[in-house]
Amino acid sequence: MVWMGSAGMDEVDGIFIGSGHNALVAANYLARAGARVLVLEAQESIGGGLCTAEITLPLFQHNLHVFFVRWSPNYRIWRDLELDRYGMKILTPEAQNAIPFQDGGGLVTFHSLERSLEVIRRVNPKDADTYARIHAEFSELSARVLDPLRFSPPLPEEALMERLERSPLGRRLLRWWRPSALDVVRELFVHEAVRALVLCNVAVRGYLPVLDVPGTGYIVVHALLVSHTGSLIQGGSAMAARALAAALYAHGGRILTRAPVERILVENGRATGVVLQDGRRLRTRRFVCSSLPSPITLGRLVEPSHLDPSLREALAGYRWNEEALFGVHLALTAPPCYRGTNPDDPLNCALNHFVGYESSQDLEHCMRQIRKREWPEPPRLHIGIPTRFDPTQAPPGCATAFAWQFVPTGPQAVARRGDDTSAEAYAWRILERWTDYVPDLPDRILAFAVHTPMDTEQWIPRMVWGDRHHGSYHPENFWARRPHPALSHYGTPIEGLYLCGSETFPGGSFTGQPGYNAATVIAEDLGYSPWWKPRRAEEILAELEREEGTAR
Ligand SMILES: Cc1cc2nc3c(=O)[nH]c(=O)nc-3n(C[C@H](O)[C@H](O)[C@H](O)COP(=O)(O)OP(=O)(O)OC[C@H]3O[C@@H](n4cnc5c(N)ncnc54)[C@H](O)[C@@H]3O)c2cc1C
Repeated sequence: MVWMGSAGMDEVDGIFIGSGHNALVAANYLARAGARVLVLEAQESIGGGLCTAEITLPLFQHNLHVFFVRWSPNYRIWRDLELDRYGMKILTPEAQNAIPFQDGGGLVTFHSLERSLEVIRRVNPKDADTYARIHAEFSELSARVLDPLRFSPPLPEEALMERLERSPLGRRLLRWWRPSALDVVRELFVHEAVRALVLCNVAVRGYLPVLDVPGTGYIVVHALLVSHTGSLIQGGSAMAARALAAALYAHGGRILTRAPVERILVENGRATGVVLQDGRRLRTRRFVCSSLPSPITLGRLVEPSHLDPSLREALAGYRWNEEALFGVHLALTAPPCYRGTNPDDPLNCALNHFVGYESSQDLEHCMRQIRKREWPEPPRLHIGIPTRFDPTQAPPGCATAFAWQFVPTGPQAVARRGDDTSAEAYAWRILERWTDYVPDLPDRILAFAVHTPMDTEQWIPRMVWGDRHHGSYHPENFWARRPHPALSHYGTPIEGLYLCGSETFPGGSFTGQPGYNAATVIAEDLGYSPWWKPRRAEEILAELEREEGTAR
């Protein structure tokens, strides 16, 4: 057990529950604004989903959760927190996405748009023209509307829609927002492999179960663009957690690990501290901010008497994601090659490989299987070979790889496939499937380890059923309704108790945006002066409307 000395945190202004990246981001912003903050982590290591571990053989580093990221030295949070000073480094492969075809060849897109268009032109010239046009359109919508909005606490959805209607750019965005992702992609592109490639990038962001649901179209705008800017963190994802933690220490924040919070203290309607599992009580002067999902934070860590019965009821019916990732992590003697290719073929050198997704129907089929709670057959895989770009993650000459498969999750699904024997059998199916495309795979395997959704929950307590986004994406909680309309502003009905995890707007993945927005709200509520430049959604939208006025 670790006890804090006097240079630790005897009296703090704010306590963060969990050391996932969102809590670390929020803690960093507030520490620099002058708050004395303490981050409490249940596990021995920090970072939540930013985790790199030797789960196969010694020296083979596996990124069990976050692998591909969209951060760069120009990313707002990176710049604000000066993460390059704290060791954060990324690698951006030139080949970004590969769809190998079962009968040989495949489709690859690149960091360079021009190079991607050349490839698309070879499969369908009309799609290449559309892709070029839509990339330009989406770049403008993203830079001017979507990205700024994601970095600001959300407006209620009805208000947002009404405000978007008032400007030409807003109306252009709504054109893509309202339909389903599947409809948008099918309307835009003709060639099935091009459709599959874009849809895979939507699905990996957690939207597979809702691909055909109206209102998911705006994810295509985001996914198509960031599918050219994927990166990985040098040294493994855990290095990003180290950089965020180092930045926090440099600004007076502190982190305590093996410190699971069991209860949040509420006195006179205000959050005043926490009780750890070992009975220690830690007090805070101003706030508690939890990165755990609200059914845990409010439903389990807070006495029920502090909550309105209707909110308690809503939390009891909280919808966890019905899909999770089943992973097979491999230690290899060398990276495998697709049939008939040499090691330098772009197909082998892509950041993300999508195997078995050759058409939009393949994605639709997988979506329907998940909804029926069936384990996909045949497996369709998302593959990464991190050592192609970062050889330090394995012994010299060797390689690591992983294959992720979308599977149904939740009590019934896990009961069917959660035991070790059936997990191993399914892992073999996954390897067989990949071998159909890379015949040299079996000869290269030194060892493999299976990481089921339940393993995810064990590594990251409170990632319930392996739900990587801390709650499903479904029409009742898209955009500003995350996680629940009553909690969409990072605050809770308990004074001084805030939320900052992936369940809050704009959702999961390694973006840090929930943490950034929570820090903005806490700073405003509690009078810390924000040294960063948060913008209100109203301001961003008003600027678009003024432009309309000027144009008239
Ligand atoms: C298999 C898998 C693959 C993924 N791949 C990617 C990817 O390639 N790219 C990407 O961007 N995202 C990916 N994700 C999603 C990403 O991991 C999450 O979106 C991200 O980790 C969420 O961050 P967070 O800060 O909100 O919370 P988390 O990372 O969930 O962190 C929460 C923290 O709270 C701690 N905790 C829990 N209970 C307590 C308690 N009682 N007291 C104290 N601490 C507690 C946990 O141990 C954890 O450290 C993946 C997730 C999974 C599961």
